[in-house]
Amino acid sequence: MSKFYVVATPIGNMGDITLRALETLKNVDLILCEDTRETKKILDKYGISKETMSYPSDDIVGKDSRQSNKFAKIFELLSEGKNLALVSDAGTPTISDPGAMLVSKIKEKFNAEEVQVVPIPGPSAVIAALSASGLPTHEFTFLGFLPHKKGRETLFKEIAGAERTFVFYESPHRILKTLESLIKFCPDKKVCIARELTKIYEEFKTGTPAEVLEYLTKNPVKQKGEFTVIVS
Ligand code: SAM
Repeated sequence: MSKFYVVATPIGNMGDITLRALETLKNVDLILCEDTRETKKILDKYGISKETMSYPSDDIVGKDSRQSNKFAKIFELLSEGKNLALVSDAGTPTISDPGAMLVSKIKEKFNAEEVQVVPIPGPSAVIAALSASGLPTHEFTFLGFLPHKKGRETLFKEIAGAERTFVFYESPHRILKTLESLIKFCPDKKVCIARELTKIYEEFKTGTPAEVLEYLTKNPVKQKGEFTVIVS
């Protein structure tokens, strides 16, 4: 029986890695990475020297023969009884990150007695943001990244009409535009932007969409970095 570990890694602060994650990365036969250079930073910090390989990104599967060869290699290793770990650049793999397709293919190809897929939980921006937002968390919908065009308006209408909390990831280039859309569709909702979580300039700003937009517009430096947005 092989083990395929899905390992969460830090979203900023390098201290946010579990003992179990380190132990797993130390002991597997190969680490599958979104970007081997990013993963090397963590491995170096914790003195782990281990073979790494990049894994096929979800949207390229079946379109690129080099990537298909990587699938074949991963399946071969698992058939031989090797243990593998999957990591993304930051946070929990497969959550708005590549890897979901790989996990799905492994579950299609092997039964649970042949390959056990094991989560090694840890940081994820969506949960970190919710946990310290002060907004209702008993029922929430995670939207990943919002669509840029098709379906975007429908989504804002859904947010406007619903009671539950919504969470999504947003890029610094689009944060102002998204706040403008929230002003248009749900001006009275409460918005919390969680910026640069676990890093030096970590910040939570809560208010109406108009208040948060005004805050960011007055402080352009705060428009930079990584954002998770919560609307309730
Ligand atoms: N798989 C990751 C996770 O579990 O958190 C998410 C990966 S997704 C490609 C990256 C997006 O997550 C960023 O664009 C940002 O919206 C959000 N994010 C990641 N790190 C963050 C941080 N430190 N603070 C706030 N949001 C963050």
